[in-house]
Amino acid sequence: MNNRPLILKGNINIKNVDEYIIGKIIKNKNVEDRKEEYIQILDNENINLFEYGYKGYIFENRPQNIDLEKINYCTDVEDYKTLLDYDVVEIINKRVIRVLYRDDSDDNVIVVTNQCNSNCIMCPDSDYVRNTKENPNIKKLLEQIRCIPDDTKHITITGGEPGLLKENLFKLLNECKKCLTETEFLLLTNGRIFSNTDFANRMEESVPQYIRIAIPIYAGNEKLHDEITRVEGSFRQAITGIKKLIERNIDIEIRIVVLKKNYQHLEEIAEFIVKEIPQVKMVNIMALEMTGNAYKNREQVWINFEEIKEYLYNACITLIRAGIITNLYNFPLCNLDERLYSIAHKSITDYKIRYKKECDECLAKEDCGGFFNSTINVKDIKVKPIK
Ligand code: SF4
Repeated sequence: MNNRPLILKGNINIKNVDEYIIGKIIKNKNVEDRKEEYIQILDNENINLFEYGYKGYIFENRPQNIDLEKINYCTDVEDYKTLLDYDVVEIINKRVIRVLYRDDSDDNVIVVTNQCNSNCIMCPDSDYVRNTKENPNIKKLLEQIRCIPDDTKHITITGGEPGLLKENLFKLLNECKKCLTETEFLLLTNGRIFSNTDFANRMEESVPQYIRIAIPIYAGNEKLHDEITRVEGSFRQAITGIKKLIERNIDIEIRIVVLKKNYQHLEEIAEFIVKEIPQVKMVNIMALEMTGNAYKNREQVWINFEEIKEYLYNACITLIRAGIITNLYNFPLCNLDERLYSIAHKSITDYKIRYKKECDECLAKEDCGGFFNSTINVKDIKVKPIK
């Protein structure tokens, strides 16, 4: 499990006009060229390696004999030793260091906005986060992308709703296409914006070579889907958007989040997909993350895994029989029909994974994705260690 902290505190002094710098980490060594892209970490014993020209510095302690007026620097940063070469960080003046990219993870995310044009009843973010008007800073996002090593395997682009960036989404995707030519991207979106033909056309021009767009469908009909997203017309827009992207040869993943309102309709959703959009690359059926709106609305949202089991099996079989790749995300193995074990994945972001105490006795623990930290203590979850 990757437990490295994402926020580090210390004494932070940034001199540039933006009050922040974004750069990649290099520890206790010097780089040959493009120093200005790096933030150098120097322990006390390696302070002799100091050279001017880096974008910023993180010193173990305040150094003597270096003109600190000339550089961006941080000292006395708790946990600075957890940073690794080629991590990407944002240093915010007088405040914190934020880790934007972890070089030892295949699970890195670029969050492009916290705003959304839907308000799903089980959204893992809260209404407050969704409604906080913080315009995405495209300059920062582009800098972040330029710093990411070009051998990175996978990046997820998410929000909020990335489609709300409009023109800036194309700038961002074009930068990804230019800088990260071998990387696989996953774009998480509610898909509504792609019902606009111009937007779908621009998307076709801008996407990197390896990208899949993941769009959620919560029901096989307009009424229930819109009741869950709490936006009238969202089902019609999402389905139109999916069809337009498929017509433009963009790979689509459908995501079905299972909640109290739709678990009995899973087979119907599967049949809808088979009939209406069988060209999708895959369907991923997901268990809830109980934070934000999901926690607030838990009485309407939460459904015990045991209740879901049979409906989930029938939906999976419907999809698989139609030749659609089907995966299960976020379900603990012992709460699934064992015929579905082979399509269940360890999918929870590494630092959010938790197990129950009884899981220590389970022979399948290595293969089981466990629970979200937010879900593990929700009432009535039981585990049955596999022996
Ligand atoms: S007992 Fe724990 S580790 Fe084993 S399958 Fe269940 S949740 Fe996973």
